[in-house]
Amino acid sequence: MNKADSERMAGILEKMGYHEASAELEADLVLYNTCTIRDNAEQKVYSYLGRQAQRKQVLPHLKLIVAGCVAQQEGEALLRRVPEIDLVMGPQHANRLEALLAQVDNGQQVVATEEHNILEDLTIARRESKTCAWVNVIYGCNERCTYCVVPSVRGIEQSRTPEAIRSEIEGLALLGYKEITLLGQNIDAYGRDLPGITQEGRRKNTLTDLLRYIHDVEGIERIRFATSHPRYFTNRLIQACSELPKVCEHFHIPFQSGDNEILKKMSRGYTIERYRGIIKRIRDLIPNASISSDVIVAFPGEDEQQFKKTLTLIEEVGFDQVNTAAYSPRPNTPAANWPNQLPETIKAERLKELNSLVERTAKRMNTRYQGVVEEVLAEGINPKDQNQLMGRTRTNRLTFFPKEGPKGFIYKPGELVELRITKVRSFSLSGIPLR
Ligand code: SAH
Ligand code: SF4
Repeated sequence: MNKADSERMAGILEKMGYHEASAELEADLVLYNTCTIRDNAEQKVYSYLGRQAQRKQVLPHLKLIVAGCVAQQEGEALLRRVPEIDLVMGPQHANRLEALLAQVDNGQQVVATEEHNILEDLTIARRESKTCAWVNVIYGCNERCTYCVVPSVRGIEQSRTPEAIRSEIEGLALLGYKEITLLGQNIDAYGRDLPGITQEGRRKNTLTDLLRYIHDVEGIERIRFATSHPRYFTNRLIQACSELPKVCEHFHIPFQSGDNEILKKMSRGYTIERYRGIIKRIRDLIPNASISSDVIVAFPGEDEQQFKKTLTLIEEVGFDQVNTAAYSPRPNTPAANWPNQLPETIKAERLKELNSLVERTAKRMNTRYQGVVEEVLAEGINPKDQNQLMGRTRTNRLTFFPKEGPKGFIYKPGELVELRITKVRSFSLSGIPLR
């Protein structure tokens, strides 16, 4: 989500005539797009800002901008902490960068953190990849998970219309993009805020409807979406994914904890039994699907047994990848004020044990690729070996392969290549082109 926001803000700057500086400490304008999901993400920005603030003391024309979720969370407090900052702007204001900079040019110090209706995007993102593109479909989040800062910094849900989304995707296809990833904090909530009921009394604009609506855009070969919430994940959606050939066989469905009591305290609104049911349904309909997830350990009050249930679920489901984190208390979230916080030592121990299981499980799951043929979309050159390309399987496994095929054909980024997988590691594969 942050990368997508950064690309849109970079697009605005480019349109205004800015171009990329050779180094961070050379730039005339510095914009930090920040994350506050955990404390260590937030702290990073202060060390970066310190260096730029020093530069500004000798280079008064330097423009210093803090965007994103730390900006939203801290607002004016950021100016008190680093008075050299020119502009503090929350994530809902990303598309307004040009207008906000005009205020800065008038000599103001600007703080843009008020609730804002995200206007239909007139910005053209400056995208890092020429092959794969992010497409926002819903901004914000209406959930209230007790650990999570996202709703307070990204605001309420705002869905884009199916027409606007499709037209962005058509534009991407014309530019040669092959893969799109639809983005939402809770993408299953897509359309809840849009009008329209079907004759059967069902909501008209669900994620499932959106997938069907955009599926035939010519030139787009692959469609992904993230992040799915187990509470809203429907059988209709799984059915659609199994029917629509461009929708890739990968699901990112965070479960956060393997224990029902903890899930309740997190206010996640589902049980592990429901989660297992979703996984079973996916595996029944799409047997080769890969499944990834997010997990938090050492949530306030989590005991050893509850932690073990998280480990058990990982082993049982066989996740291809799990993003792991130790619980980090966040401002303005209920769990941060609870008295039963766990000590750092327990957080570190549990995280270590979890990470080692995640790695072993991923490696075990990856053995299913050994020797099989997979279609990989080449995304770029392997930075560690100029003779190799890298890309991903439909199931989202990072894969490296020689750019030259057996008959001397040279493959390029943007091409779909059939590979035989020759080596599997925990989080990546290697293969050789069939042709
Ligand atoms: N909307 C997505 C995830 C958004 S945040 C969802 O609901 O799943 C990405 C991940 O960061 C979360 O899935 C969670 O695992 C982690 N996370 C969020 N808040 C956290 C906190 N306070 N401490 C540790 N991890 C956290
Ligand atoms: Fe945070 Fe929960 Fe919303 Fe995800 S669904 S962004 S974890 S509040």
